[in-house]
Amino acid sequence: MQEEFKKFNIKTNYDTSKVSWLKSGGIAKYFCNIKNVIQLTELFEFLNKNKIPFLTIGNFSNTLIKSSGFDGLLLKLSGDFSNINLNQETVTVGSSVLDLKFSMFCYEKSICDYEYLYTIPGTIGGNIFMNAGCYGFEIKDQIHKIKTFDTLTLKIQELSGDEINFSYRKGFQEKNKIILSVELIAKLGSRDNIKRRMKDLDQKRNETQPRRANCCGSIFKNPRSLKKSDDFDNKLSAWKLIQSSVDDSFYSGEVKLSKKHSNFFENEPYIDPDKLESFLKNIEEKVMLKHNIKLEKELRIIGV
Ligand SMILES: Cc1cc2nc3c(=O)[nH]c(=O)nc-3n(C[C@H](O)[C@H](O)[C@H](O)COP(=O)(O)OP(=O)(O)OC[C@H]3O[C@@H](n4cnc5c(N)ncnc54)[C@H](O)[C@@H]3O)c2cc1C
Repeated sequence: MQEEFKKFNIKTNYDTSKVSWLKSGGIAKYFCNIKNVIQLTELFEFLNKNKIPFLTIGNFSNTLIKSSGFDGLLLKLSGDFSNINLNQETVTVGSSVLDLKFSMFCYEKSICDYEYLYTIPGTIGGNIFMNAGCYGFEIKDQIHKIKTFDTLTLKIQELSGDEINFSYRKGFQEKNKIILSVELIAKLGSRDNIKRRMKDLDQKRNETQPRRANCCGSIFKNPRSLKKSDDFDNKLSAWKLIQSSVDDSFYSGEVKLSKKHSNFFENEPYIDPDKLESFLKNIEEKVMLKHNIKLEKELRIIGV
């Protein structure tokens, strides 16, 4: 094992609170950064042989590792997986490219309709996994094809967007597959309009959501179809359900709901991740009690 630890520069006892957007999270047993497909293949030969579980991580903006930690290897992609290549009518984007970087690239090249990514703090890989979206856009509608790595067969596979079963905040989520890159549709537009739109959306975010706080974006998905009741129709969103279910005590403390947006929480740095989880459970219970609606988390919570 020592030889592989050296070869892949595997770190042990990796504190995820130092890197997660929430500044909270347990310890991962191992951490490793992989830069190309050859390394990736060799790493999985080693992990499979030693039955070491793994979790691919992007920018950690939607993931919380519980206090019990992750008894496996956290895998971060970089190097070849950070490339962006413009083709004739599409653009190939590595999964570790940050949304901000990609939207800036699109602006430079006059590619429109990716302005919304300017306001999301994830990576392209995380976006494909989550089917990220906002302001009327979802990444699923812009995918030509994706390239994945099968960690069991060690083979690379290409899938067209139509072959993936996307739904609201659920993207390509296959257990033993890693998203390597995506080919996105590249539509040309006016640079000035793109710039204006980026600015407008950024401003809209600032006005309506906490940006600087430790948070994970929207905590819960908006329920798809709500059962009609006396005072609620089926157009309600998660924040309205939360706001109408909880009392003022939920808006103060080391983890609290945002006064700007009730479907966002803000937490003190280095808070015990299990405290975050139980805060969310309390909200779920309150909403269930008041509206008989089960909220589903957007935040990915990992661990036992
Ligand atoms: C302030 C703020 C605002 C936000 N606003 C929005 C918004 O408007 N819309 C929205 O949809 N989301 C939003 N989010 C949530 C989050 O940014 C998105 O879900 C984003 O797509 C997550 O990307 P990430 O790289 O950080 O993923 P991570 O949190 O690192 O990972 C998320 C999941 O994806 C998996 N994953 C990541 N990369 C890969 C890969 N290469 N292969 C396989 N699996 C992978 C991980 O295992 C994990 O299960 C917001 C978050 C914050 C903090």
